[in-house]
Amino acid sequence: MACWLCGRPTGKTIVWHHPIPKSRGGRDVVPMHSICQQTLITNFTNSELQRHGMVVAGLLENPNIRKFVDWVANKDPDFTATIVKKQR
Ligand SMILES: [Zn+2]
Repeated sequence: MACWLCGRPTGKTIVWHHPIPKSRGGRDVVPMHSICQQTLITNFTNSELQRHGMVVAGLLENPNIRKFVDWVANKDPDFTATIVKKQR
């Protein structure tokens, strides 16, 4: 199984992420690394996630996400780190 965001194989822990937030009526889920999901939810608001929906390409255009995916590309599938939420 490949992670929706970074495309790396998933590790022991698979996070089932709602590309469209549950609170916004999203029902589809995609497999993700927990670190990738954390990165998404710290960089996008629920309305932004809803706007992008299932189209991951739009999310990857965000420079922060692009940088993260390039950075995480060579990490172990079970690698985790604490993502500090930036003030926005
Ligand atoms: Zn990932």
